[in-house]
This record gives sequence, structure tokens and C-alpha cells, in this order.
Amino acid sequence: MKRSRRVKILATLGPASNDIKVIEELARAGADVFRINMSHASHELMRETVAKIRQVERTLRYPIGILVDLQGPKLRVGTFAEGSVMLGKGETFTLDASDLPGDKTRVYLPHPEILASVSVGDRLLLDDGKIELRVTATSPEAINTTVVYGGKLSNRKGVSLPDTMLTVGVLTEKDRADLKAALETEIDWVALSFVQRPEDMIEVRKLVQGRAGVLAKIEKPQAIDRLEEIIRLSDAIMIARGDLGVEMPLETVPGLQKRMIRMCRRLGKPVVVATQMLESMITSPVPTRAEVSDVSIAVFEGADAVMLSAESASGSYPVEAVVTMNKIAEAVEQDALYQGIIRAQATEPEATAADAISAATRQVAETLDLAAIVTYTSSGSTGIRASRERPSKPIIALSPKITTVRRLSIVWGLHCVQTEDAISLEDMVDRACSIAYVEGLARPGDRVAITAGVPLGTPGATNMLRIAFVGQDGAGGS
Ligand code: PGA
Ligand code: MN
Repeated sequence: MKRSRRVKILATLGPASNDIKVIEELARAGADVFRINMSHASHELMRETVAKIRQVERTLRYPIGILVDLQGPKLRVGTFAEGSVMLGKGETFTLDASDLPGDKTRVYLPHPEILASVSVGDRLLLDDGKIELRVTATSPEAINTTVVYGGKLSNRKGVSLPDTMLTVGVLTEKDRADLKAALETEIDWVALSFVQRPEDMIEVRKLVQGRAGVLAKIEKPQAIDRLEEIIRLSDAIMIARGDLGVEMPLETVPGLQKRMIRMCRRLGKPVVVATQMLESMITSPVPTRAEVSDVSIAVFEGADAVMLSAESASGSYPVEAVVTMNKIAEAVEQDALYQGIIRAQATEPEATAADAISAATRQVAETLDLAAIVTYTSSGSTGIRASRERPSKPIIALSPKITTVRRLSIVWGLHCVQTEDAISLEDMVDRACSIAYVEGLARPGDRVAITAGVPLGTPGATNMLRIAFVGQDGAGGS
């Protein structure tokens, strides 16, 4: 399969799409990575879904990435005797440690550690920010508040604490169990929700031990304060605009999105833009103008990937949503202004051989109008550095490791192919040329740029750039 766009598409699976036929349709329509949301999936459902995706991968003979999204410390209130209550502006309301059903004056907050973290004056935002409470007094048993913005509060609605540094770790007991189960299957990425501190990433990396890429979801103001440190400790990030837009003023989210994309491009970390990208397509076969514009902005900015949540997980038009995203991405990338906008944010190479070769390769490929760049990458790191250059020519990332090619499927512009390590320089050139040909990215007579590490198969040793002609049968020539 060959994509005619550089930005990648992540599609969340759920009741609307958790079916092998639909998964195949979504992949054919353009989904490069599938997300399994552990807020809604049991271990058994997760395992079944991974198996279905791998089955589709075998059918399509094209590597597919799988991201397992851990719920994280998502706080929720308990339940009400009547199912819900109406909170009026100026009234008092208490969240406490008693698990009795709630009423108009109080509700259970089933997170004892939170009662201890909150301070007087902090805001509590309930139900995606629709209700705002302000803390007037705290004790180990209860938080007393006054209602700033009232409304209907029903069972198990979410609680956000934008002003509070939570003492809880980034992983709950549920997350630990979910992580363990996920790492026992063939997944490529784990996403951590509500990351607050760089230490959160260190803790999780110790548990994951390289068995998957670790992606930090940026959705807390505390994470924005320490963004660069968190990004450096992550393998990728997600701009999780859903919760971010509750915890930060909504109008600051677009600026933060630009800042995060630019920082990630500079640091060479894949960045995913998520949430409400085509929200209206949950119930409509066509998106709004504003949504098309929103997706376009992420693509113009050079984000690695754009994500669908409920649109593909529980909406009525999952495949149409992917088709739409694919069309928008293709149109933006063919726009006359696209290259110039991408170039304007170009990043300087760092002083490493891999970066120097990647920068030189982009230059050579563009100057000589080559058909493609072929890069041998064992761990995937050279593939990411090649992508960081955002070259205007296709990049083929070759690795002997299936785990590497799958993980790289989230990265901007990488067409990933698993192939054995070359046994000689001649074999390396031949293999690169024939793969470029077979994958439909070069024709006989075209030239490609090839990068690799010599001696062959040494990870992290990219030090060679070669230009080669693709021969009549796709074989390498010089
Ligand atoms: P969620 O994360 O869908 O798991 O909440 C994305 C977001 O908050 O934007
Ligand atoms: Mn979230």
C-alpha cells in the first residue's frame, strides 16, 4: 500500500469499528495507526482487537502501528441517589470520602488522595468544564466548595483540577494492570494520560523497558510548564486537546498546539494532534468548514499525525471520517504554499553523523530531483532523523525488525518496510532500489538516495550516503 500524503492518520477503534472488516476498510482508507482506549476496553477486548489488527496487517502486507492509551488518573465523582442533581450558582457543595449516594449538598469523591492535594481557592471543573466549583475549605474527609457555574451533575462525571498539582503518580492500579496486559501482546506504543512531571515519564520508561514507544499525552497545565523536559523523556507526544481545553483556557489551545508541534519538530519527536478534529462526523457524513480548516492547520504545521477519536470509535461514519481526513491531508500537501510553510519551520541538524547525513540527503534528493530517499534504520532513530528534515521526496525506512517498522508508522513521511539486513554494499544498493520499485515509489531509470551505517547492521552508525539508479527490473545500478 502506498499513501499519497506524508502526515499519518491515527484512528481510535471502538464499538463502531471493532470488526475485522471495518478495520481493513479503515486501513485501506488511510489509517496508519490504530488506538485502543483502555478507558473503554477490557483486557480481553484489547487482546482480540490487537489480533484483528495483526490479521489485517497480514492481509494488506503493510505494517500497522497499535497504540494502547492508558486511562491515567481520570477523576470522577460517585453516584447520586436520584441519578443527578442541579447545582445553582452561589450554592455550597461538598465532595467527601463517604461512599453513600450523593444529594444536592454532597457527593462521594472516590479518590482519597485528592482530598489531601486540593487547596482553598482551587477550581474544580466537572463534566468537561460545564460546572465550576471553587474550594472554600478542605480537610482529610471533605472538600467544601461554592458553585461558580452551576448545572446538572450526574453519576460518575469527570472532575478536572487545573490548579492542583496532584500527588498521585501517573499510573493508577488499573493502568499498571492494563500496561502489563498490553505489553504481553504485539503493540507498538503506550500513551500516558494526564502526565504532569518529567518524573512520570522516567517511572513509566522503567516499566516499559523499550518494549513499546512511550507517548505522553499533554493535557495538564503542569505538563505545559515543563514541556521540553517531558518531550525529551518521551518517544512521542499527543496534543490531547480534549482535556487540555478543559484545564486551560480554550482560546490558548491553538497557540499551545503550534508551540508543541514546533518544539517536537525541533527535538525530533513525533507529535499527534488529537480530539474533535472531525467531531461533527460522529453523526454526519460530511465535516464542517471549521473542522476541515482545523485538520489543515495541523497538516500545514508539519505535525506527524492527526487523530480520530469518537469519529472512528463510536460514530456513524468511521470510514468516511478516515476518507475525509485523507482527502484533506492530500489537498494541503499538494497546495502551492505547503512546501514553503513546512520549510519555514525547518530545523538545524544537530552535530551528529545521522543528522548531517539526513540533512545532506534531503539536499541531494531535492537538488537532483531523486525519486525517493531510502534509509536503513535498525532501531528507528535514523528514520526519525530523516523525517525531521521534512524532505519533499518520499522516505522509505527499512529495518530488519518488525517492531521498528510498526513503531515508525506514526512518523511523518516514513513509508516503512521490513527487510533483512544487507549482506554487502552491493546487496544494500540492490535491495534499496528493488524495494523502492516494488513499493511503487521509483520507476526504472529513476535515481534514489540511500543512507546506511557501514559496517552494515550496526545500530546508530549512519555514516553513508549513496546515489543509485533503479534498473530495468528494479535492481540497483550505479
Ligand atoms: P482522551 O484523550 O480521549 O483519552 O481523553 C484525548 C484528549 O483528552 O484530548
Ligand atoms: Mn484526555
